[in-house]
Amino acid sequence: MMEQHKEKMCNFCGETCEIVGDSTGEIKENSGLIDANVSGGYGSTPGNGNGTLDDCTKYTFSLCEWCLDWLFEQFKTPPTTSDYMSPDEAAEPYIPAVERVTLDSWRVKKKKFFDERRRRMIKRHETTKY
Ligand SMILES: [Zn+2]
Repeated sequence: MMEQHKEKMCNFCGETCEIVGDSTGEIKENSGLIDANVSGGYGSTPGNGNGTLDDCTKYTFSLCEWCLDWLFEQFKTPPTTSDYMSPDEAAEPYIPAVERVTLDSWRVKKKKFFDERRRRMIKRHETTKY
């Protein structure tokens, strides 16, 4: 039985995690980190323990590809990459999407990319509460 598609929203930018999965625009799929979970432990509890997540609490969230790539750019150590279609071959090291789009001539929807990137950047900054 085919699972019913349900649009997921990114907890960071508040926008959709949904991308169009085919050239007709009919097939839509969620992409990014969808319904990720992390839990705090006894030693985590902020203010009493040594971390930031409360004990016995599971946190569930989703991050769109735009926000994931933005986070990857902030990492001191970039994420490792691998080619899941050819596991024996070495993959290209991580390069931020903005650099790949800028440098690769075969990536032809540059304006669309930069417009969406800018829109998500603005959305992320609006979510700052403190
Ligand atoms: Zn996002």
